[in-house]
Amino acid sequence: MGEHSNRSVAIVGSGPGGIYAAQALLEKAPGCRIDIIDKLPTPYGLVRGGVAPDHQHTKRVDRKYAETMEHESVRLVGNLALGRDISLDQLTEIYDAVVLAYGAPWDNKLGIPGEDKKGVFGSNAFVGWYNCHPDFRDLTPDLDVEGVAVIGIGNVAIDVARVLSRTPGEMAPTDIADYAIQSIDASPIKDIYMFGRRGPVEAAFTNTELKEMGVLEAATTVVDSAVIPADLPESMDDREKKVRTRILDTLRALSTAKAGEKRRTVHIEFYAMPVEILGGDRVEGIRMERTKVEEGRCIGTGETFDIPCGMVVSCIGSRAEPIEGVPFNDRWGIAENDNGRVKPGVYAVGWLKRGASGTIGTNRLDSYDVIDLVLADFGDDPKSGPAALDAFAREHKLRVTNYDDWMTLKSLEENAVADPTPRQKISRVEDMLAALDSA
Ligand SMILES: Cc1cc2nc3c(=O)[nH]c(=O)nc-3n(C[C@H](O)[C@H](O)[C@H](O)COP(=O)(O)OP(=O)(O)OC[C@H]3O[C@@H](n4cnc5c(N)ncnc54)[C@H](O)[C@@H]3O)c2cc1C
Repeated sequence: MGEHSNRSVAIVGSGPGGIYAAQALLEKAPGCRIDIIDKLPTPYGLVRGGVAPDHQHTKRVDRKYAETMEHESVRLVGNLALGRDISLDQLTEIYDAVVLAYGAPWDNKLGIPGEDKKGVFGSNAFVGWYNCHPDFRDLTPDLDVEGVAVIGIGNVAIDVARVLSRTPGEMAPTDIADYAIQSIDASPIKDIYMFGRRGPVEAAFTNTELKEMGVLEAATTVVDSAVIPADLPESMDDREKKVRTRILDTLRALSTAKAGEKRRTVHIEFYAMPVEILGGDRVEGIRMERTKVEEGRCIGTGETFDIPCGMVVSCIGSRAEPIEGVPFNDRWGIAENDNGRVKPGVYAVGWLKRGASGTIGTNRLDSYDVIDLVLADFGDDPKSGPAALDAFAREHKLRVTNYDDWMTLKSLEENAVADPTPRQKISRVEDMLAALDSA
């Protein structure tokens, strides 16, 4: 028992932001009881449902997260959604502090005509589909198309283009949904176009992800060598120059490949922004406008071109869900907050606090800083904590799940497949609950 054993904190969301907040509390407020609430019975947010299935090394951060979850002061309260099953007011009555960490899973809109046609998806939905996320499991995109346009040239866009290019053999050591790999393999996709508004110097992808595009078994990645600059701007600092030089070298290596050499071709197209999605009910093509970058600003040139495609995946960031009681900054799509303070006793961390940017690690420092504020703000009278949440769940007949339930689901998923496949995820909440009933 530590000096904070009469304190309790609810963390809403078990992704990186929430888990690092719990780690910070364990370090800085020993004894404090921590309930990590998640709307799903399965923890770890985008580490499970967003990070690409063929990046199992990245997903392995969940082993470290398990150590936090298994601490005696921590409970996982799954299948309990803020705003659906319990309100923020109800949580603030029960806990000394509520740390909101429910992420930013709503795709930003492109804001162009034709966006509502069948075959247009946001990256969260599309990535969630191939990653078995219950919210997107039934998206069932029609992949009976020859061309795909991916809007954006960050790492998420590369993930989408790469996963669409992988063979079942390459995907065997991953936990991609079986329905997704079957549908990707059966698809007649020939061309995947990745469009970025700006040029190679500004592109948001990292070199490691870009390099992977050069070694795909059944896909060639091409880029026009004419757009790769010979020099970097003088004003760029040395560290950035080093990073950018590597990216330009990789692009130069990719530019020697020829479209059509393998089953699929990924075209990296710089200086192009979407202006209209073409077709009838369904997407049949996309109209792009050439851009140029002047004094750091990206502007349209008025010159347009059309690309035939039957699917569009926009990878242009995402926003948080507005939830009753949580002040919302509509412009940025985040919880209104002052360095993490949302309102008395309520805090935000992770993507809900900062918006959808940065890596898993970015959330760590941030959550630690916010927990300092939580501890500084604790009131004089400790609240009742976890026992009151249990009473609330009983009273409202809520079927909440716990860490042991997650362990049961985890072993069911792992035992459903053989090496080298790590697991076959259960993709519907009702199936998870049924599996727990019969385990
Ligand atoms: C497609 C994609 C790929 C990525 N790949 C990488 C990568 O390879 N490497 C890397 O470093 N970073 C990667 N990232 C970034 C990384 O995933 C994020 O930085 C991180 O997940 C943000 O953490 P978070 O806790 O704020 O949100 P999330 O991870 O989204 O977690 C939010 C949690 O809240 C829960 N929740 C949502 N609503 C409610 C509610 N109403 N009530 C209760 N619980 C709720 C969700 O179920 C979820 O568990 C990727 C992101 C995306 C979108």
